Amino acid sequence: MKKININTATPARPQSKVMIVYTGGTFGMAHDANGVLVPFDFSLILEHLPTLRNLSLDLTILSFDHPIDSSNIQPEHWQQIASLIYENHETQDGFVVLHGTDTMAFTASALSFMLQGLKKPVVFTGAQLPISETRSDARENLITALEIAAAKKNGKAIVPEVCIYFDDELLRGNRSKKVESMHFDAFKSENYPPLAKAGVKIDYNEALVYHSQTELKLLNKIDASIAVLKLFPGIQAEVVTSIFANPSLKAVVLETFGAGNAPTATWFIRLLKEAIERGIIVLNISQCPGGMVVQGKYETSKELQQIGVLSGGDMTTEAAVTKLMVLLGEFGNDGAKKMIAQSLAGELSE
Ligand code: ASP
Repeated sequence: MKKININTATPARPQSKVMIVYTGGTFGMAHDANGVLVPFDFSLILEHLPTLRNLSLDLTILSFDHPIDSSNIQPEHWQQIASLIYENHETQDGFVVLHGTDTMAFTASALSFMLQGLKKPVVFTGAQLPISETRSDARENLITALEIAAAKKNGKAIVPEVCIYFDDELLRGNRSKKVESMHFDAFKSENYPPLAKAGVKIDYNEALVYHSQTELKLLNKIDASIAVLKLFPGIQAEVVTSIFANPSLKAVVLETFGAGNAPTATWFIRLLKEAIERGIIVLNISQCPGGMVVQGKYETSKELQQIGVLSGGDMTTEAAVTKLMVLLGEFGNDGAKKMIAQSLAGELSE
């Protein structure tokens, strides 16, 4: 990790301390001498963004040695970012994580589970257009993310949770999904309203913010022995069989139709039932971005409930995948089974 400190208030005293973790993605790309897009040198941030001086911040910037496209983000990176936040939680007012948009919702979800008892804002942002481009969304996204990370009321952080700021909206991280790859409105949270909207001023919806009542604790063990099985009409028994035949498999996120519905074919139910009897967790998550799984509402989900498929309620696939990995890593199969349907960081309406 490369580390630099910038006091944007110089020579005055900064009002808040914010740590930026720069992991890569489109945000930080700039043209090199040959016109090729390469990650830019973060120590030059004030040149790209002179208005940062107006924020009066003591910035600590940590950059990955080799910034990466977020399609290459792995659980090891989640562990690295979560540890950095945990270790600096006491001394910083907030954190901004600059991350590629492609897997940002996974990393934000993972961190929301790994940093139990968080008391400071962790604001993820990125950009659809590199900071070096004239019409880039990077500048506004970063400036507002920094403002949110530093925002306090009566000495306490206004949004002490892991969130995503993008295109004028602050969303809860573990409720967010990337929904758009061309326009600036890249993220949506269908099942939970925005925590804030940035216009002439930043309007916080304080009643919606998650406030943890517990001490900060780092859950840093990850077990990625899981699979996502997305259903489609015509899915073959061989495909489902091959997924459940994996001997190291511990859990499957079953992406179902509508309110949690699946084929009633005997072979399908039998394969699920055998897997559940072997101890594999099968978690029902809807393919619909909005709404929730209600097992038993239709005939096509009644049997799922009877054989022990667990309902994921209104969780996103991103939240379900990362929550399973953290719970399996920290508490094993039995613990994960008990805790998966409980809200740990506001990811689920109970
Ligand atoms: N492929 C890039 C990434 O996720 C896209 C972006 O940053 O928006 O890293």
